[in-house]
Amino acid sequence: MFLFRRQLSILCFLPLASFAASAAPAAKWSAQWEPTKLVNGSPVLFRVSAPLQLTGWRGEFLGQEISFRSSAACHCWYAFAGVSLATKPGAYTLHVEGKSKDGKDASMSYTVAVAAAHYPTSALKVAPGFVEPPKETLARIEEDQAEKKKVFSSTAPETLWSGRFEPPAEAEVSGVFGSARVFNGVKKSQHTGLDFRVTTGTPIVAPNSGTVILARPLYFEGNCVMIDHGQGLLTMYLHLSEFKVKEGDVVQKGQTLGLSGGTGRATAPHLHFAVRWRGEYLDPRTLLELHPPGS
Ligand SMILES: [Zn+2]
Repeated sequence: MFLFRRQLSILCFLPLASFAASAAPAAKWSAQWEPTKLVNGSPVLFRVSAPLQLTGWRGEFLGQEISFRSSAACHCWYAFAGVSLATKPGAYTLHVEGKSKDGKDASMSYTVAVAAAHYPTSALKVAPGFVEPPKETLARIEEDQAEKKKVFSSTAPETLWSGRFEPPAEAEVSGVFGSARVFNGVKKSQHTGLDFRVTTGTPIVAPNSGTVILARPLYFEGNCVMIDHGQGLLTMYLHLSEFKVKEGDVVQKGQTLGLSGGTGRATAPHLHFAVRWRGEYLDPRTLLELHPPGS
């Protein structure tokens, strides 16, 4: 096992894609993305520069509309997006557009390659009740699911985060995102988070600012906190022993959310950290490696 460490990703400028008819002929557009090699399950940070002073930037990638924010630090516009686990390897289009000062539309498209991720398989042993939950817990599980569905659909229209996402705990990683989970010999699912090996009682901190949209005990998740970072980006903290925030709280980067533990479906005390974007789980490690402009 390895200790989670920041790695500096190398950014690369990609060759210019075909020009939209409305862009000035001498203009130079550029687009970069992190990570430079995208795989299914990866969060992505796009940075785009245009030769014109454009306003009303918007974009589209993998069928999702994405909003751009301007940054003086990079003289560029940047946006967060994600590649779902179900995305097949291939070439996809990033489309960006805005309006020039004189009201003309300007747009550009880039080809973005997505490769297949190679996620491992891991076998786990848990109490039988968490693999095939006993009948009397089914109503509870259904209630949890209804609550989560409600919470997942409530996200701020504006972006609430800024700068880098910091690790929620400084600890060894004990389980990676995307691995196939075999519980007591039965393949149940793919692991949709990043596990940190922390003993019970370790403070778990907010990687970035946002609003607490859930802080309550759930059957599988145990004591669970969810933060809304806006525009469909949520982060989740599972198996806590204690809450230090409540639903509705506005949290800042580094603020303690709770103490780690082993509540819910956990083989031992640990933190399960998950990142969800518009209904899809994404690799938290990649989120922690992104370098948003100005950070
Ligand atoms: Zn986990």
